[in-house]
Amino acid sequence: MTAIAPVSTDALLPVYRRLPLEIVSGSGVRLTDAEGRSYLDFTSGIAVNALGYGDPGLVDVMRSAAEGLIHVSNLYSTAPGRTLADALVSKSFASNVFFCNSGAEANEATFKFARRWSRTTRDASAVEILALRGSFHGRLFGSLAATDRPAYRAPFRPLAPGISIVERDIDAIEGALLGGTVAAVIAEPVQGEGGVRVLAPEFLRALRQLTRAHGVALIFDEVQCGLGRTGTFFAYEQAGVEPDMLTLAKPLAGGLPMGAVLLSEEIAATIKPGDHATTFGGGPFVSSVANYVVERLSDPDLLDAVRSNGAWLGSQLTSMAQRLPSVRAARGIGYMWGFDVTIPAAQVVSAAMEAGLLVCSAGEHTVRLLPPLVATRDELAEGVAILEDILR
Ligand code: PLP
Repeated sequence: MTAIAPVSTDALLPVYRRLPLEIVSGSGVRLTDAEGRSYLDFTSGIAVNALGYGDPGLVDVMRSAAEGLIHVSNLYSTAPGRTLADALVSKSFASNVFFCNSGAEANEATFKFARRWSRTTRDASAVEILALRGSFHGRLFGSLAATDRPAYRAPFRPLAPGISIVERDIDAIEGALLGGTVAAVIAEPVQGEGGVRVLAPEFLRALRQLTRAHGVALIFDEVQCGLGRTGTFFAYEQAGVEPDMLTLAKPLAGGLPMGAVLLSEEIAATIKPGDHATTFGGGPFVSSVANYVVERLSDPDLLDAVRSNGAWLGSQLTSMAQRLPSVRAARGIGYMWGFDVTIPAAQVVSAAMEAGLLVCSAGEHTVRLLPPLVATRDELAEGVAILEDILR
């Protein structure tokens, strides 16, 4: 097995290692390339395409929304964004929602909101943001400072100050909170890019107790693991703890760029007009589409299927890890799984692609599976059979 060399992409800035695959169309959970070859897609555009490709309802809502207002700016109010905020509030701990355009932007907004809240309710020195070992929160200066990937960080120092990484360990976090300088702790309930690590419910509960005891905000980054991916609408529901803020993005608007911050009443009450803004955030077109996506991803039958099929997928990967010498541990939940391989994950990604299955990596030795949430058990089984074949 060898990794396929990335293709040059002409005038595009070469920041992506793209595979030599020109995708031209998609239907259901399959993509087709320029040569007419079909691929089973277990990447979902990196956890974006929860409804797969060509979902008729999604196409319809985009068509009808395109005939209405696309954008008017946040100088004025439009109904679709208000409806979407109401829907997210009704499903969550939150009282208010801020819309933006990506996951990194949503996370950086929470850092600002945490500092505004902390300065208003505590004192001026409680400004630090802590992120966990293995985290990924984005590539802008603030979110990169909260991202535990040395190779992504080193060339761009200095990163935003007042943001640091702490061990994924309650005692270590407690030690960091003792000085009284921390405004917020941010955590992904399931770390995605960091190797698909499900944070234990007991850990999340202890983190909640600790942050509450120290008057520190708890932020959950559900950009990748939220909106049904783990089998509940929000991943945090399964741990039985609520954060003070939560971020969403990836699947929220069916492939259109959109991010969101959900805020508790206490934090929202400290935010004033002018504290934050973005030109495109929560516009009528993207919000109309997101209203449809949120409704679809709230469907109890879809969430049940993600839980039961996801457990089955996990059992298949665990069995592979026990039987095949090239596969080590499998980790995950719902339709978000990773398994460690002894060879570079890029080689498995290439071999799977050659065999008609698209998967991605999460670190050098972890293969990551993120099937569309509409994938059936049979489609998952088809992907598992291809993986078994190439890994044997
Ligand atoms: N947070 C998490 C957990 C992510 O997985 C990602 C992207 O992979 C981000 C934040 C950054 O999102 P975006 O690429 O939309 O800025």
